[in-house]
Amino acid sequence: MALIVQKYGGTSVGTVERIQQVAKKIIKHQQAGDDLVIVVSAMSGETNRLVALANELNDRPRGRELDVLLSTGEQVTIALLCMALQQQGINASSFTGSQVRILTDNTHNKARIMEIDDNKIRSALANGHVVVVAGFQGCDKDGNITTLGRGGSDTTAVALAAALKADECQIYTDVDGVYTTDPRVVPEARRLNQVTYEEMLEMASLGAKVLQIRSVEFARNYNVPLRVLSSFIEGGGTLITAEDPTMEKAVISGIAFNRDEAKLTVLGVPDHPGIATQILGPIAKENIEVDMIIQNTGYEGTTDFTFTVHRNDYDSALKVLQKTAESLNAREVTGDNKITKVSVIGVGMRSHAGIANTMFETLANENINISMISTSEIKISVVVDEKYLELAVRSLHTAFNLEKA
Ligand code: ADP
Ligand code: ASP
Ligand code: MG
Repeated sequence: MALIVQKYGGTSVGTVERIQQVAKKIIKHQQAGDDLVIVVSAMSGETNRLVALANELNDRPRGRELDVLLSTGEQVTIALLCMALQQQGINASSFTGSQVRILTDNTHNKARIMEIDDNKIRSALANGHVVVVAGFQGCDKDGNITTLGRGGSDTTAVALAAALKADECQIYTDVDGVYTTDPRVVPEARRLNQVTYEEMLEMASLGAKVLQIRSVEFARNYNVPLRVLSSFIEGGGTLITAEDPTMEKAVISGIAFNRDEAKLTVLGVPDHPGIATQILGPIAKENIEVDMIIQNTGYEGTTDFTFTVHRNDYDSALKVLQKTAESLNAREVTGDNKITKVSVIGVGMRSHAGIANTMFETLANENINISMISTSEIKISVVVDEKYLELAVRSLHTAFNLEKA
């Protein structure tokens, strides 16, 4: 008998009918003899609705109260799903994050899971119950409710699978697996049968929101076999596992993109030791995360410095940078909040030269200007104007033959 953790995302539990469908699916699995722990998200749109309500009353709601509010979304779904299962004669028990005791740190809205107490879940399973746990939430050591950041139910599911040593963690969503790129942007995108943790980690970090980054980190660190599948159509989905020597290594396995980037540049800063920390220190102090960084070669004692941030942080970053620029006697500050980042990813890239060149050539042929480049062993990212995003992703998808297996 296997122990399976299944997670159903917002769209999959978006209506009463869909919750009934999920209940049917669960019953089928249970009849096959598996022990099941189910993690659910809030009904689709609910978390956004709650965020909007909070913002109507307060420009900067306190993290603690925001978490009390946001956690209600998932609490509704666990209760409804258990009711649907019980209606069919199935024993099911619902648990909020605090009831399980998913212990997190106290970083509200972005908490990290520290420890999971599996006692209640194990005894409910031993009594033949389907266990239904609210995703995206936990509590800190003082009992305050916390949430794990948007998309956090994926992380709840993988963390539970790791804690329970489950045989597999299955993420049911509105696509039937992980694709070579977002199928909403490139209809020719192809589903991948298998992808490594490393590749999936890069894809998630570089913008593919099909899995939350933290969930992939957890899966890799605890070697949890992770599968992404559709709630609506049958199929094997995509298995995410460790790299194994027999695995066919595609040179490029996918293209990810991030629409929400912004770029800031300070021109003519004095080129002396410590300049990077003088510029980025005040940005970090404001809790603004910096992604790509470029410093030009100095010329006649000054240099230019460019970095990217999330678009939501653009205005605050610009203010901070203008202040720094003044104190450093820099020539000018410029910015652009209409940029996007496009990345090609693949473990096979390690052993293949010329990938970067194919990428740059493809973009040049489409007359798309690259304003920043960054590389790692298994990815190359470029920053381009947001109006070229779709064109860039599609032309790269074709150039790397990703629609073909
Ligand atoms: P859920 O509500 O089930 O958590 P999400 O909306 O968070 O679902 O994630 C699923 C979505 O991720 C898909 O509808 C798809 O548009 C998007 N997506 C982005 N990149 C990819 C990719 N490479 N493969 C599959 N889906 C992707
Ligand atoms: N409901 C949360 C969100 O919308 C968590 C999740 O769905 O994973 O971000
Ligand atoms: Mg999600």
